[in-house]
Amino acid sequence: MPTIVHLASEMVPFSKTGGLADVVGALPVALAKQGHTVAVMVPAHRTHLHDGVPGTPVASVEELGIRGQVFAGEHQGVEVLLLDAPQVFVRPSPYAVADGDYPDNPIRFAFFVRAALRLLAQRSPIDVLHVHDWQAALAPLLLHHPATSLPWRQRPRTVLTVHNLAYQGLFPPWTLDAAALPRELFSMQHLEYFGQVSFLKGGIVAADAVTTVSPTYAREVLTPAFGCGLEGVLAQRADSLVGILNGLDTTVWDPATDPHLPTPYRVRNVLSGKRAAREAVARELGLAPGVRPLAGMVSRLVEQKGVDLLTAAIDDIVALGFDIVILGSGPRRWEELLATAERAHPGRVRVVLGFHDPLAHRIYAASDVFLMPSRFEPCGLGQLIAMRYGALPVVPPTGGLADTVVDADSPHGCGIVFSPTTSRALLAALARARHLLGTPEELARLRRNAMRRDFSWSTSARQYEALYQRLLES
Ligand code: ADP
Repeated sequence: MPTIVHLASEMVPFSKTGGLADVVGALPVALAKQGHTVAVMVPAHRTHLHDGVPGTPVASVEELGIRGQVFAGEHQGVEVLLLDAPQVFVRPSPYAVADGDYPDNPIRFAFFVRAALRLLAQRSPIDVLHVHDWQAALAPLLLHHPATSLPWRQRPRTVLTVHNLAYQGLFPPWTLDAAALPRELFSMQHLEYFGQVSFLKGGIVAADAVTTVSPTYAREVLTPAFGCGLEGVLAQRADSLVGILNGLDTTVWDPATDPHLPTPYRVRNVLSGKRAAREAVARELGLAPGVRPLAGMVSRLVEQKGVDLLTAAIDDIVALGFDIVILGSGPRRWEELLATAERAHPGRVRVVLGFHDPLAHRIYAASDVFLMPSRFEPCGLGQLIAMRYGALPVVPPTGGLADTVVDADSPHGCGIVFSPTTSRALLAALARARHLLGTPEELARLRRNAMRRDFSWSTSARQYEALYQRLLES
């Protein structure tokens, strides 16, 4: 059984800004359950210097003049290596504050990758180094470059998973010197991207295999509409590019055992379970009394997620008879527009800005429909969670949404699929939803289909396992 190490910036339960953290918290656990020896290395992101880092200190590292300490711990059969470096990882949030990204992001994550490679080289043999997103994407490139290579006993095969091509780690050319990256890497074949340094491109060109998080997105990224400028680079790797759908951590996301819900529920008592959650959310957030259907959204509030489509349609959605609860954060512009909509519909629209995990659980449970009008969606976890909690996702057929949500018209229907991705089509979809919600047998069928879908990690983990095996045999 191969030894696998994952390198990523976030991992549940240690840090999270989005779906990446869910994946890195669950895929390694699923691989370990299948008998592999698995470790994950992540930065010890924390907001305050006095917050403790879990685990025991096992090594010190120094790269780019930044000192760090590695803490080792365990999470459900997986070894976790947390890289603590207060100078770069003690921040209000991992990458940015409302005013923008931290300017030293390239240094922070070049440090992370270099420190990780140094530590892992001492611990080899490692069969597969699986890196995630731009924050870890330099690893396959630096692993092979003579100027940065280390004395590995056995150089691992590398896999890069791109969770969202819109985040590329694009930085000015001075980054090269500041991150001690060999200058010859500033070329079309490596890191250079229209005069800038692209960490993600470096990983795409150098990794032995590149994956994305759904089969449809793996096809979409080869087109200009979805490739975010990297479609040509990806096309050159098309033979090594595969789409593997994310699973869900079904121990964390399970309405039958969820400690954040007032009444846990399964298919057979879904009505009472969701009613209790609805009442709890109404009390918690001050929704006006009544039995109107609830449309929920838990998301980063950015254009990718269709926040602009939603704000344009919000008055009409309320007019259709829905109450709306939105939990998320994003650029000020969208937060302000949503706050204005909230003021316009007191008790009917509630917008909670910030990141609140327990409330997110309750919103999934309380919602009748889950709004996810994404323009593109590499995989998406929100719709998977919503289905498991019996909230029907309302989605366009893009990326992972196309691969996971079946429209209500089908016998396997478990959500509402609309097209094109416009406010008008979103509104028409919600009018359809309103009708379905008013038809008890139809609603029961759709909810049953949704809640019984198998989104566990074991299927996806087996696909990754097969990929590792192919690489090790090549
Ligand atoms: P992303 O593109 O942000 O990764 P996903 O749908 O793949 O989107 O995953 C988002 C994850 O983050 C889900 O688990 C969702 O519940 C969670 N999430 C997003 N925003 C918030 C928030 N404001 N508070 C709590 N959880 C959130």
